[in-house]
Amino acid sequence: MSDHETVPAEVEDESEIPADHPRYTDLVTRHRIERGVEKGITHLQGMHAEGRGSAFDYLLGEETTPSADDAERAAAAHLLLADRPVLSINGNVAALVPAEMVALADAVDADLEVNLFNRTPERIDAIASHLRKHGAEDVKGIEADALIPGLEHERAKVDADGIYAADVVLVPLEDGDRAEALEAMGKTEIVIDLNPLSRSPRVADVPIVDNIVRAVPNITAHARELADADEATLEAIVTNFDAQAALEAAEARIRSGF
Ligand code: ATP
Repeated sequence: MSDHETVPAEVEDESEIPADHPRYTDLVTRHRIERGVEKGITHLQGMHAEGRGSAFDYLLGEETTPSADDAERAAAAHLLLADRPVLSINGNVAALVPAEMVALADAVDADLEVNLFNRTPERIDAIASHLRKHGAEDVKGIEADALIPGLEHERAKVDADGIYAADVVLVPLEDGDRAEALEAMGKTEIVIDLNPLSRSPRVADVPIVDNIVRAVPNITAHARELADADEATLEAIVTNFDAQAALEAAEARIRSGF
């Protein structure tokens, strides 16, 4: 057995996880979710979501597939073309990629909005201050003065000048009901979810079947590369993207390993 086939059960800081461990990214991801729960950022149910995601990622080979990369490029084009893009942040997203979401918001000039399935004022505040610590200036979702039609009251709360008014929304790891309700409002929806069979990616205009820790920096990289592209180029990227083909490619990869 190599030195790195095991790690201490209790890791205080992610720097203690050996960078050359074969499951390094997965271990860091688990650690961040555990810390998120301890800090009151992530709901306990976020651990189950993480476990499901981790299993799908294992089957995908823990890498960004060519079709996920195409989806990430299409997501970047949509965000750059948008009039009012909003990036939605839940407890898992805040624990895993706070600085990366801030960087993406800067790259595409989008708002960040805290949007929780299990909404409490304490968690909203904890997430908003966590995002500010990672460089966010304006964080929406605190007022929550509008409702997404068709959802039960607490689950429906959003900002009137945030997700409610957005034309393009990035909703990573979103619950299926809310993804469907946002789609019904006519928004262009970009979903990041490792399970291609889940309802959320299936209603998305751009389903990204990739781990959020790889997907968000890659959307930002595409957005930076496309920053000076003209509208026709961006429109062509959007039009040429095939959501159904992306879902099928991801499912084929998971089932066959190729
Ligand atoms: P549905 O959307 O059909 O209601 P669900 O109940 O399985 O599905 P949720 O628990 O609401 O889904 O959301 C968790 C989803 O997020 C899962 O599909 C899981 O695969 C995905 N997921 C978890 N961690 C990650 C991650 N790090 N990157 C991308 N997706 C992830």
